[in-house]
Amino acid sequence: TVAVVLFTSDLRTHDHPPLHAAVAAADEVVPLFVRDPGIREAGFAVPNRDAFLADCLADLDASLRGLGGRLVLRSGPVAPEVCVVAAESGATQVYMTAGVTGYAHGREQRLRDALRRQGVTLRVYEGVVTAVAPGAVTPAGSDHYAVFTPYFRQWSKEPLRAPLPAPRAVRVPDGVRGEALPSRTRMSGVSPGLSAGGETAGRERLARWCRADLARYEERHDDLAGDATSRLSPHLHFGSLSPVEVIHRARGRGGPGAEAFVRQVCWRDFHHQVLAARPDTARRDYRTRHDSWRTEKDAAQDIAAWRDGRTGYPVVDAAMRQLRHEGWMHNRARLLAASFLTKSLYVDWRIGARHFLDLLVDGDVVNNQLNWQWVAGTGTDTRPHRVLNPVRQGKRYDPDGGYVHRWVPELEGVAADTVHEPWRLLPDRRAALDYPAPLIDLADGLARFKHARGRD
Ligand code: FAD
Repeated sequence: TVAVVLFTSDLRTHDHPPLHAAVAAADEVVPLFVRDPGIREAGFAVPNRDAFLADCLADLDASLRGLGGRLVLRSGPVAPEVCVVAAESGATQVYMTAGVTGYAHGREQRLRDALRRQGVTLRVYEGVVTAVAPGAVTPAGSDHYAVFTPYFRQWSKEPLRAPLPAPRAVRVPDGVRGEALPSRTRMSGVSPGLSAGGETAGRERLARWCRADLARYEERHDDLAGDATSRLSPHLHFGSLSPVEVIHRARGRGGPGAEAFVRQVCWRDFHHQVLAARPDTARRDYRTRHDSWRTEKDAAQDIAAWRDGRTGYPVVDAAMRQLRHEGWMHNRARLLAASFLTKSLYVDWRIGARHFLDLLVDGDVVNNQLNWQWVAGTGTDTRPHRVLNPVRQGKRYDPDGGYVHRWVPELEGVAADTVHEPWRLLPDRRAALDYPAPLIDLADGLARFKHARGRD
């Protein structure tokens, strides 16, 4: 018998339940990835994620070749393309991972219907993209948790399956056509500091980071200059690492660092279960609806300054420049940059979320949109009116100014006591810096926010 394994957000060989099951059940397996034009048309295929994806596909192909197989790449609408591959290979079963977004559900449904007409069964596996499947833990009277802490309490009690090993061998039937794999070296518009993708790189990073940095995660995760978080988010986004395996590894080491880290990984599952229950929150406010945001039309210059990292608030500018240079940003920096746009400039969170999605290598609808909503006060934050002050936050999380110095070279040499407030420098020194004056007075921004929220 022959089975097709359709890879989506699970680009790995280790801890891959559909691959594992298909190899056990069938004599031959077609590992398939379909480049879906719908993702490009919807604006989600951007250079940084395309490049990371190319690394993931190349690495997956190499791993499969090591097992005696290969990756088959095709392009086109997913349902008809999988049907063609099933027909060409004589497959009677297709195995895949369950998606979470509305888009993924639609794709899955179309695929199920198309395969059924061909007499092929689709087997879909939950709990692969997340550690705990959306909907597996729910509070009384609702289909999802709206607040993180009670979700985390329940989530922590869920039994976690043991990670599955990579298959010992994968036999691919002869005669299944595939396209040449893409290569990141031929792509333009990629951030120069983008990290390497693929399961091999992800597993190396996981092992190295757990050994060297996990134990001190609790004290260091907010230290902007220290850059001591795992940077596993792109691997979790593309599934080049399994969240189940990441949690097992961390728990295996134990201690407060591991506990704090696993709690953070749980945020990912939390957002997935919100979006699975409320797919509209990818665009629409989750809790409180606000209509008075400023838009591109009212705030074009402010938005451009924010995107370019020229707001005159050093820590915000450092964050936005890191995003452009690396396609990644530290969590504390994301919080600051998003709070500045939505609460200090009072710009619609969707505008910021779109810019992040254009650049973030880990950018996904689930975590990006729901974190933006959390910061904007329209989402699951139980204190929706909190406003992060970029000066105070800068002094607290970048006390020596190392993060600002790294990303804002205009402020090189400005001492730690003024680097977050360059307007306090002596006028001559200030004038000599090629660095903008603050875009707004924070007190004015706060007054506007409070006034608007009183009105909404
Ligand atoms: P670590 O601190 O090492 O955490 C480990 C893992 O936990 C991360 O890899 C990530 O998978 C998960 N995690 C940590 N914090 C969060 C969180 N708040 N929400 C969900 N998962 C979390 N994360 C994305 O993966 N994709 C996004 O598009 C995204 N957009 C964001 C936008 C905003 C405005 C904010 C405030 C946060 C966003 N995050 C997003 C969450 C978080 O900032 C990143 O996951 C984290 O910075 C990744 O770095 P790390 O892997 O070193 O994290």
